[in-house]
Amino acid sequence: MEYNHILIRYGELALKGKNRTYFEKQLQQNMKYALKAHPSAKVRRTFGRMIVELNGEAYEPIIEKLQNVFGIHSMSLAVKVENDLEKMKVAALHLFQESRKEKAIHTFKISARRAYKPFPISSQELNHHLGGYVLTNTEDLKVDVHHPDLDIRVEVRETATYITSGVFEGAGGLPVGTSGKVLLMLSGGIDSPVAGYLIQKRGAMLEAIHFHSPPYTNERAKQKVIDLATTLTKYGASIKLHLVPFTEIQTYLHKEAPSNFQMTLMRRMMLRISECIAKERGILALASGESLGQVASQTLHSMNTINEVTNLPIIRPLVTMDKLEVIQIAHKIDTYETSILPYEDCCTIFLPSDSKTRPRRDQAQKYESYLDIEPILEKAIADTEIITISSKEKVNQQIDDLF
Ligand code: ATP
Ligand code: MG
Repeated sequence: MEYNHILIRYGELALKGKNRTYFEKQLQQNMKYALKAHPSAKVRRTFGRMIVELNGEAYEPIIEKLQNVFGIHSMSLAVKVENDLEKMKVAALHLFQESRKEKAIHTFKISARRAYKPFPISSQELNHHLGGYVLTNTEDLKVDVHHPDLDIRVEVRETATYITSGVFEGAGGLPVGTSGKVLLMLSGGIDSPVAGYLIQKRGAMLEAIHFHSPPYTNERAKQKVIDLATTLTKYGASIKLHLVPFTEIQTYLHKEAPSNFQMTLMRRMMLRISECIAKERGILALASGESLGQVASQTLHSMNTINEVTNLPIIRPLVTMDKLEVIQIAHKIDTYETSILPYEDCCTIFLPSDSKTRPRRDQAQKYESYLDIEPILEKAIADTEIITISSKEKVNQQIDDLF
């Protein structure tokens, strides 16, 4: 007898009342996406629970992948047996013995739940029968109902009984896709991928926008951003990446704008383009990896002046975080090593070191009034390249096509 199922528990989802089915369907779809490489494993929605049928697949890689799926609160390996007391006994003992191979267990309890009321044995009686059977067949073991080393849970459903022990933590959050779509401003740095991860955690799907300046930024810098977006797909769905050619705008600003205002004006351009692409795509919010006070462009004065050009909400999940906290998450989600690769970002080329930390809106407006920005904005948008990133295999194939 082996673990043949995984029981999935979802936290906040249960609170969603009428929307529950919608949330469950999205979660099911996301789980299927996460388990693409395991076609035998089937994700089923039954009786307000999600169950993965392993159908012979090893559970370790599957649990690992499901731990990246937002909306899952916790998971347990389960053995499915018929609603038959003798079969339940054998399964409970087997689970106990398997668990004991992995850790010392001196105390245990059985927590039976009879969700299917017509089953003739009550939960209390089940606890008693199954607990008794495990005790009689085991040395050096006691029951402890308060702090057991092992809790064997037994859930009697109409069609079958599921027996589990042990719990794996899930990622929490909400299923990606249930909160609409956000356009993430994705640089090659440490912060913006973390912002993207946190936005997915709250159930939003991502599209991403990246500004690059060939030939000053090279193919590798572009590849780095593609790799970061690919890593983010692990925590959600596929991501459309908009690659905006930014060289012309940067050279123009470099030539025409005062050096200490170039950074501010460049950011305003980025936001205008992002807003335009978001609107084209029916996306209602932008997101960035900004953190208050981290650099000159992230002071309140800067944010205020940069933000003036759009009234779309800009979600900044990292705004209150310290760099170290961000780095910790970057390690956890596996983006850190890619982020620190030393390729030039478009923001670092041309940029003078005397950027104003307190740029004012009226000044920005004045400098922009001397410029002719509409045509170059439109050109950058028209020349934007779109790549759909859905999985590693697919991306590699697309990259091959590029060369
Ligand atoms: P990151 O680590 O995300 O690059 P950072 O600390 O380097 O952030 P900045 O370079 O000031 O900070 O960028 C602030 C935010 O602006 C980024 O988090 C990102 O959301 C956006 N951004 C910066 N450069 C680009 C770019 N080339 N393309 C798209 N978005 C960008
Ligand atoms: Mg950066």
